[in-house]
Amino acid sequence: MPLGIDVGGTKIAYGEVENGKIIWKRQMPTPQTAEDIIDVLVDLIENYTGDSVGIGIPGQVKDGVVLFTPNIPLTGINLAHTLHSKTGKHIYVENDANAFLIAEARWGVAKGYKHIIGITLGTGIGGAIMLNGQIWQGAHGAGAEFGHMAVMEDGPMCGCGSRGCIEAIASPRSIEKWAEVEKHNGMPTAMERISMVDIMKLKDTDTLAKIAYERFVRYIGMAVANLANLFDPEVIVFGGSGVLSWDTWQKDAYAIYTRRVLPSLKGKIPWLKAHFSNNAGIIGAAALAI
Ligand SMILES: [Zn+2]
Repeated sequence: MPLGIDVGGTKIAYGEVENGKIIWKRQMPTPQTAEDIIDVLVDLIENYTGDSVGIGIPGQVKDGVVLFTPNIPLTGINLAHTLHSKTGKHIYVENDANAFLIAEARWGVAKGYKHIIGITLGTGIGGAIMLNGQIWQGAHGAGAEFGHMAVMEDGPMCGCGSRGCIEAIASPRSIEKWAEVEKHNGMPTAMERISMVDIMKLKDTDTLAKIAYERFVRYIGMAVANLANLFDPEVIVFGGSGVLSWDTWQKDAYAIYTRRVLPSLKGKIPWLKAHFSNNAGIIGAAALAI
């Protein structure tokens, strides 16, 4: 059974996975330095009796090397090689959105498909591309950074340094930030603290919630139509915390998407809700190591 390790900005979650099911799992806080993170990883890999280890990283990864990860001090480290030389085990390191899509293709809703687009809606917007059953890493490990598609000239600043990226407009966190500013500017609302959960709940009765909700579905629909027109996948899989309210927003975003997608693709590409939500990071990481 492979060991899956999900290295996040605040915690490292890990466990053994068999056929897409967690057998056991644990977690610990992410240490502050690269040296300490590697020590912790070596320790837990040495305590694992199997041979295959998959590691998901929120950042750009190519051939086992972490090229860029903004929230964890591992940028520039050949993590697969380092951990292999210290433990002797097989180590597979990938971007966490790629790991998510591999897990959905192997054990989840996208089983049996070969051309798949994956989108994760969370703090940011992540993406993954599978063509002919293979993940596309890109020439520099930055393939499928869908969050940074520019969709608004002079739009909000994005963490990447550009403006108007879809992540800076329509990630659940960006929608909340935008609504906070609108509330401050006097837009009527009953929401005391703005949250995506309340925006979804109050969208039919609250002025600000309605406008924030419409902004979310409009930009998601438009961005996903761009992806469909680019890749013509068999299916598009959505994951991340944003799919907790899938039943609320999916139809409205899909209607916008349908207006934007090429005529030859209309109605042909189903949107699927990810099978894995809890433990998706560990399961995705484990899927790398099969
Ligand atoms: Zn960006």
